[in-house]
Parts: sequence; structure tokens; C-alpha cells
Amino acid sequence: MPELPEVETVKNTLKNFLLGKKIKDIIINYDKIIKYDNKDFKNALIDQTFMDIDRYGKYLIFKFEKNSLVSHLRMEGKYFIRKNLADITKHDHIIFTLENDIYLTYHDVRKFGTMELTKKGEEFFLKSLSKLGPEINNPNIDINSIYQKIKTSSRPIKAVLLDQTIVAGLGNIYVDETLFLAKIHPNKQAKTISLKQLKIIINSAQEVINKAIKLGGTTIRSYQSSLGVDGRFQNELNVHTLAGKQCKRCNTLIKKIKVAGRGTYICPNCQEEE
Ligand SMILES: [Zn+2]
Repeated sequence: MPELPEVETVKNTLKNFLLGKKIKDIIINYDKIIKYDNKDFKNALIDQTFMDIDRYGKYLIFKFEKNSLVSHLRMEGKYFIRKNLADITKHDHIIFTLENDIYLTYHDVRKFGTMELTKKGEEFFLKSLSKLGPEINNPNIDINSIYQKIKTSSRPIKAVLLDQTIVAGLGNIYVDETLFLAKIHPNKQAKTISLKQLKIIINSAQEVINKAIKLGGTTIRSYQSSLGVDGRFQNELNVHTLAGKQCKRCNTLIKKIKVAGRGTYICPNCQEEE
């Protein structure tokens, strides 16, 4: 599943191709992805030009003259630039025909992705974006207000960090890496985390996310960003996917456990369960 650094890579790659290009036509092959009336969706976007692309958490925000298209890739959504109609596959569910007959396609084997349309400037009135917490990579993130939100929660700290309404942008890979750096067991109840420990966790998360952004994200298993761009952060992973390998800090074997229903990797020595 793409997380913040992967979506950032997709954003930057697409910006190079799309800015200044006009949409000539839209073909919708699977309409459940679009959370908007299909006819109005086409009317609002045909003849519009890609002015900018932003990202908030794991959401992409395509900005046109008047409207914004907010896209979430969920499990396996990808964008491709296709040069020929013949290159379009059965998993390309939404096809934007651009000038010079180049196609931007939204490809999604699992079909969990979403697209929402709104007026430019009103993106954060959408239910999806309005619920999100502060972005994890924001250098001015208010750690104290996150502490207030979690200090009575009996959920495991991992579940809390995955909750996008608490903090936006962390997913399974980077939470495992964060808690390893912070030396905190993912099952530790949020209410037992001190403000000082939370600061260490947030600082660790920012270190991990910023490094991953620099390296173009992580390419593992099913996820590769669009346009064949591979991330390189998989070479920097300390625990995620590394069960049975030695911890780089203490040589203990890394273990895979389950926390909050998710496959979770820890060093049982560095991250002791209390
Ligand atoms: Zn260790």
C-alpha cells in the first residue's frame, strides 16, 4: 500500500508530465471509483488544464482552473502515462485523454481507490480530508495536541499511529520503522506513553519519513509507483519484512507479530513489551 513517501514520489513524477496539459476527454470504465455524478465529473474536467498537484497525507490533489480532484490510491492504485490506446489494460479504469493523444490512466487491480471532485480551495471541506490529523512530516507539528488526543486511549500505540485522524501519512511500513527507532513496543497502550516518549516517536517518524521521501519511497511486494519509478528506501529498512534477520543494533533476531490486525516487525530486545 502506498504511504506518504510513495505518494510524494507519484506526485513529483506526475507533475513533470502533467502541468500545463489539457484534458480533452475522459473515459470511465468503472464508475464506483468516482464519488461524484459521472456526467458532471466529465463536464467539470474536460477542457481543464492541470495547474498544480499537491499531496496531503496519502491523498493526491490535482488542481485545475476551477476545480480540484482528490485521489486516494488505497491498496494498489497507480497512475500511468500511456502513449497509445493499445497500451491501455483492463485495470485502467479511468482514462484521461490529454493533448497530443497521450493518456493518463488510473490503474487499480483491487478497485479500492477513490476520486472526489470539489471546487478549488474547498478541498478540506470534503469529508475525507476534513477528518485528517496534522501531517506527520510537518516540522511544526503540535505534539502536545496529539498527546491530548491519545493520553486516555487503551489502543496499542501502533493502532493510534495508523489512525489518520490522529496523524496523517503513516502506514504499516513506516510505523514499524518508527517504533523500532524509538525503541517502543507496538503493543504498548497509548495511555502509558509519556509526552517525552511521544516526542521521541514523532521525531523518529519524521526522520524515517524524510529519509524515505529523499529515496523515493519503498518498493516492496505489490507496490511500485507509477511510470516504473522505483523507490530505494527498502534498502534502509531496519525491521519491516526482515523477520529472522539480525537486528542492526543488538543482533537479536527480528520477529513478526500481529498488532491491531496488521503484520508487525519488531526487535524483541530493543522493543521490550512491558
Ligand atoms: Zn535490537
